[in-house]
Amino acid sequence: MSLYYSPQDKKGPHTSLVSIAPIPTLSVIVPFFNEQEVLPEFHRRLTQVLDNLSFHSEIIYVDDGSSDQSLVLARSFNALNCQVRCIALSRNFGKESAMSAGLEHAKGEAVILIDADLQDPPECIPDMLEAWRSGADVVNMKRSTRHGESWLKRTSAAMFYKLLNRLAALDIPENVGDFRLLSARVVRHLNQLPERNRYMKGLFSWPGFKQTTLTFERDARFCGETKWNYFKLLGLAMDGLTSFSIRPLRLATIAGATTASLAFIYGAWIVFKTLAYGDPVSGYPSMMVAMLALAGVQLLAIGLLGEYIGRIFVEVKQRPLYLVDSVSEQQASASAIET
Ligand code: UDP
Ligand code: MG
Repeated sequence: MSLYYSPQDKKGPHTSLVSIAPIPTLSVIVPFFNEQEVLPEFHRRLTQVLDNLSFHSEIIYVDDGSSDQSLVLARSFNALNCQVRCIALSRNFGKESAMSAGLEHAKGEAVILIDADLQDPPECIPDMLEAWRSGADVVNMKRSTRHGESWLKRTSAAMFYKLLNRLAALDIPENVGDFRLLSARVVRHLNQLPERNRYMKGLFSWPGFKQTTLTFERDARFCGETKWNYFKLLGLAMDGLTSFSIRPLRLATIAGATTASLAFIYGAWIVFKTLAYGDPVSGYPSMMVAMLALAGVQLLAIGLLGEYIGRIFVEVKQRPLYLVDSVSEQQASASAIET
């Protein structure tokens, strides 16, 4: 048997042989969309951490259809001890799809998802790896503070998570964003989930396994602006609610049944009153109130049905989550020097 393997032979041993990149222990996925101001500083801070690890890692930049120079910058990055890959999507598919693209391309035994805007400090990575080595399959990163976020955003987020956890059968941790570590087996299970409506914070909790939570201080954005407005956040919240719970439908049924019963009792009372006391032409206000209340409940329930049907519509089309335009790779400069 020959000791030498061709560079294309991915099954060959991955140490010491020319041109074969070692299989990474850690994959760091960075979805970004128009982040040219922050990317160089982000890459510097991230590689400072990764280059000091005792094992090989890879960074997967996912360009979510940026229209600025972000992709050119990301393609120019390299590092000492880790391989840098750059996956360019064909257009802006949204952060949830960009993260899914990264997860499908990750090769590491542990995978970390991190924002490019330096709100999630890369310096937390060694602690996350420590928790993973102690047996956790999912390491959630809980924000102890949320610098640079308005009171309205913080309160609405807190209320949403309370509501979601009430309605969904899952325990989706509060104040935990997408910054987290996942073990390879959790990533494998996530990649097998076929749904198109990907509310990732819920999906990360879905496989279960051993979860731990670490706390960190969430910094303000390094520069630039958040890509989310309240309208988009509302859409994400509806995705979260409808993908993880059918209880709103049940609530609509209960609300319908309650109003119908009350209307029946009220109707019986009106019949009785008319028979017993006669009825001079009165009752307009009560009729209007009853009509409007019932119409309101009906519209709400129909809207809710529409939300679910809309999502079924998206699911049955079975369109891919994202399209890849190009993939580029830069080998670690240290291994290039070694070989
Ligand atoms: N992002 C993305 N696609 C989008 C919107 C955002 O890949 O359509 C990336 C963005 O570049 C950043 C991360 O997702 O790296 C978090 O976005 P942002 O900071 O705007 O969200 P926030 O921190 O306000 O929740
Ligand atoms: Mg941010």
